[in-house]
Amino acid sequence: MSKVLLLNYENQPLRICSWKRALVLILKGKAQCAQAIKNIEDFITINNTSIPRVIRLNYQVAVPYSELPFNRENIFIRDEYTCQYCGKKFKYEELTLDHVYPKSRLGPDIWENIVTCCKECNQYKADKTPKEAGMKLLRRPCRPKEYFEFEMKKYSFSDRKYWEQWAS
Ligand SMILES: [Zn+2]
Repeated sequence: MSKVLLLNYENQPLRICSWKRALVLILKGKAQCAQAIKNIEDFITINNTSIPRVIRLNYQVAVPYSELPFNRENIFIRDEYTCQYCGKKFKYEELTLDHVYPKSRLGPDIWENIVTCCKECNQYKADKTPKEAGMKLLRRPCRPKEYFEFEMKKYSFSDRKYWEQWAS
């Protein structure tokens, strides 16, 4: 709840930042509140200071193209910590990665071939394809396209719901 959505001057969402970073940007005159503060959910209060939950830069910045690192955590985030076979949600340590097309048959380490999988499903699937194992993927894995959309997956449902109005 102590995070702030930072918008570019022309209102595109840039990133989620800490309240400290938001405060520094405001105090340095680099950013300001992006909307009229009407409701209690429009700001966060820290040490008696109210910080808006959405701020806008006072100038437009070029958005650098950022390639999302291909790693275990980012795959879990993409799949929302949900086993892509049984559809149940798990904790980080209860999950593993599954090569849809098996590694033993040279299935590649790419976004399109790796999914989040619980240990039980992983053991059951072993070195078979989903079809051979009689399993079905929840959805076809792909490389996350929109960085901001991916970033949002890290936050709670209520935060996402609040910020999503800015993300379209
Ligand atoms: Zn599973």
